[in-house]
Amino acid sequence: MQLKLLWELQELDLSIKGLQLKIEEAPGLSGVQEVKEDLENLENNYAEKENRLKSARKELKQMEFEEQSIVETSNELKDNMYGGKVSNVKELEQMQRRLDNLADNKKQLEEKIINSMELIESLEEELGELGEKISRAREDLEIKEKQLADELDQYNREVERLQVQRDELTEKLDQKYLEKYLLLAQKYQGKALARVVDEICGGCRVFISSAQRGHLYNPSSMVYCENCGRLLVKLD
Ligand SMILES: [Zn+2]
Repeated sequence: MQLKLLWELQELDLSIKGLQLKIEEAPGLSGVQEVKEDLENLENNYAEKENRLKSARKELKQMEFEEQSIVETSNELKDNMYGGKVSNVKELEQMQRRLDNLADNKKQLEEKIINSMELIESLEEELGELGEKISRAREDLEIKEKQLADELDQYNREVERLQVQRDELTEKLDQKYLEKYLLLAQKYQGKALARVVDEICGGCRVFISSAQRGHLYNPSSMVYCENCGRLLVKLD
């Protein structure tokens, strides 16, 4: 009877151990960490592009302002040249050169403005796409975190349930058996007991000697496998 209870205890302990391993491994298997890392990369990328967009918009504004001021300066020059106020030829020539220079500057500036506008447009597009990816990753993370929490909850409740069974069981066990079991369990990775089926030790697959077989039917005797040292139990 005690051996049968010990066997049940071993089964329970192995189940608890298995569940504890699942609890340990669940976060790694859940994919939560991977999604978190992906999300972080996406958010960093987004922040970096957002900064670039901000400075590109600022630069564009400055260039537009500069263009405006070139237009104003040119208009003033033209007014002075053609308004009849200046009649000195040399002075007029100088003014024309300035006007030409301003026109060149304006042309260069206009090219830069077009490039800047194109950059802004592509950054806006990239940010839009990144934003969508980020919200998808956030949804994915939420789902995976929920799944993991549910899974852990389920395992923990199962461990609690088995723990209650274990407590009930150990109360029925004699101290002598329990101590022996715990000692052997430590030595054999939780498998202190081995079932004997067809006269073979379930722990090491070696035949039980005929001398030992007789003792197996005595419920109060503790018989150990001569080969592996596990406590042998013969269940009906
Ligand atoms: Zn054995």
